[in-house]
Parts: sequence; C-alpha cells; structure tokens
Amino acid sequence: MTPRPDKHDPTTLAFATQAVHAGNAIDAGSGAIRSPIVMANSYALPDDPSAISWSGTDIPLYTRNSGANQLALQQKLAVLDGGEDAVVLASGVAALHAVFFTHLRTGDHVVVADIAYEAVFRLFRDLLPERYGIEATFVDTSDLDAVRAAIRPDTKLVHLEVIANPTTRVTDIAAVAELAHAAGAIVSVDSTFSPPPLYRPLADGADLVVHSLTKFINGHGDAMGGAVIGRRELVQPIKTDAMVDVGGVISPFNAWLIARGSITLPLRLQRQMDTAVHLAEALAADARVAYVAYPGLDAHPQHALAVRQFGGRGFGAMMAFAVDGDPATQNRFVANLRVITSAVSLGHDESLIVHVGTDGPRVAYYPEPFRRLGHLRFSVGLEDPGDLVADLTAALDATFG
Ligand SMILES: *Cc1c(COP(=O)(O)O)cnc(C)c1O
Repeated sequence: MTPRPDKHDPTTLAFATQAVHAGNAIDAGSGAIRSPIVMANSYALPDDPSAISWSGTDIPLYTRNSGANQLALQQKLAVLDGGEDAVVLASGVAALHAVFFTHLRTGDHVVVADIAYEAVFRLFRDLLPERYGIEATFVDTSDLDAVRAAIRPDTKLVHLEVIANPTTRVTDIAAVAELAHAAGAIVSVDSTFSPPPLYRPLADGADLVVHSLTKFINGHGDAMGGAVIGRRELVQPIKTDAMVDVGGVISPFNAWLIARGSITLPLRLQRQMDTAVHLAEALAADARVAYVAYPGLDAHPQHALAVRQFGGRGFGAMMAFAVDGDPATQNRFVANLRVITSAVSLGHDESLIVHVGTDGPRVAYYPEPFRRLGHLRFSVGLEDPGDLVADLTAALDATFG
C-alpha cells in the first residue's frame, strides 16, 4: 500500500508537493505558516553551554555554523535531490570549492571534465595544482574509454557536469560512477543545468551533487547561493571544514529567497524546458543559424543518452548556438533582440543570452563550430514562447535583412 501523503514526512510526497512543503514549518513564536526570515547572527545558548560544540552545525548557534533559514534550505534541498544531507554556501563556486577543499589532499589526483564551469577549470588547471599540489587530468567525460584511461590508483575524485556549461555535452553519470567507484574514487556532479525533478544524480550513483542555487533553483535572478547534497559522511565534513572554518556562508535572506523561489521549481522548469525544445527546433531550422547545441535535438551527439538518463522528462532549458557570421555579427544579433536580455547568469525567470567569443584556454576543448564562431549561451525563460520566437526571428531579420 502506498503511504498516505503527509507534509510532515517528505518521503510520502511527490516532487511538486515536496517543493511546496519540504523545509517549511509553522513558526513556534508567531504562528506564521511560512518560515520567517531570521537575520540574527547568534542564537540563545542553554543555561549551561559547556556541552556545546562550537564547531557544531546541527542547531542554530552562530550563523556561520547554522542559522534557521540555512537549516531549512538544507533540509529542503536534501529532500529535493534525494540525499541524506545538504550544505548551502554563499555561491555555486563556494560549494564547488568546498567539495574540493574538503575531499582532496596534497598529492591526490583528480579526473575532471575538460568542459566545465570556468572557475572549476581555473581551480584545477592553476590554483589547486600550484598552491596545494593536487594533480588534475582533464578528459572528455562523454568518452567512457577516456575516463577509464584517466583514472589512476591515486585518483580520489572524478568531477563533471551532467549537462556541460556551455556546450551542453551530456555525461552518463551511472557509467562514470561505476568506473570511479571501481578505483575507489568518489564522484561529484555539478547538476546546475539539470536540477531536480529533471534529474537526481545521487540515484544514479553520484556521491555528491552540486548546484549553483543562483540559477534554476532560486530562479528569479535575485540571490546567490550554492549547495552540496549527498551522504552524511561526505557532507558533514564539508560543513565542519569548509563552512565553519573557511566561512563562505550564505546570508539568511538569500537562503530564504532561494527556499521561496524553489517552491515553483517544477512548474518553472517544465515551462522553460517545453519552450526550449520549441526554440531549439525553430533555430535549427533557420538557415541563418550556423549551429544549435541542445540535448533535446536528434542531432545532439548524446541525444539518446539524454533521453534515457533524464527518463523522457526533458532536456533542460539551456542551449548554445551561433548565427552564421563573425563576432561582430553575433553581437549585432544580440543587440537586435528586444525581449531576450543580454547578460550572464542563467536559469532566471527572464530569458538571458550571452555572446562568448573564441578566445580563452577552455575554448580549445569545445566542439568545432564553437571554436570557429564562438557561441551564444541562451537560457530560456518564462516569457510567452510566441514572443521569444518572434524576438529571435526579428533579430535574425534585422541582422541579415
Ligand atoms: C553559474 C554556475 C556555477 C557557479 O555558480 P555561482 O552561483 O555563480 O557561484 C557553477 N556551475 C555551473 C554549471 C554554473 O552554471
């Protein structure tokens, strides 16, 4: 018999109900039915505080260890990703660094995706090797033979993105986890482009999942945050070492905003993914568009994997494309848009586009059309799909007209 749904027990709830109720509680002081924002830095101590661990993270004590809004958001994100525990930090990059800082030692070897977020690339190419003696091998994680060949006896961590920023390359998480675990390494997966309910990497064998909460999970472009979710034995040291002793803590207000924004995550993501499929097909059919990279298109190199791995729920709402022309043409196209906003970041309510050129150390790893033409990274928002198609078409007409 399936258990009766009860909002006090998230395991009985479907995702949309979890997104509304998980982490929320009636406020004992005021009776408010939504968790209030608690901006206090400190919380009342018991009469005899001698038994308190000053580095503890489980009860509200000091906001760098644990505050009310941070604890509520951690509880919610653990539920949404199906993990035992979660830690939230000031940004997605703080969360990524916290994983690396906590789980790597001098002399360790890391296998890292050759297409990953810029800060990850910089950390593993320069900062962690130079300052801490950590060695990284960059590989195409969609090539399982390459991953197998890169893993060594001293490999401690494999880090990659489910859908890579910016090329949208998709990696088979279950297969990589199997290879890593066979060598005794753990797998951390940045799932910022594939938030739940689209995908839950822990269920496929990932050990830690990282999100930039700044993106889809908050979804409104007004707060930064990052999260790491996974088994308690892997998450607790991140809290103790990276949160308490390095201190990249989230503000209570941002934690509250992100908890609120995440209530509508399943609705927003569904709408954004539906629109993204429609726009990717429209762009791919237009002769003035040189290429479109979107996992939902049949022509995407990992389309079949994406269908299987994401269970037919969708392909995310991020794509990259270029119009047929030089960098000045790409810029003209963006300048001709009247609805879609030219700005970095992604996963917001509004559609965002950014033109990225062909310079920089990461570009060498990108597929050929990205290297030749640059790319427009396009985050599909919640606007009317008709308005977005019309905006793209009008901008193409104005650019090539
Ligand atoms: C934006 C982003 C990050 C970094 O998150 P911030 O909140 O900006 O620090 C990490 N990974 C991916 C895939 C991102 O898109």
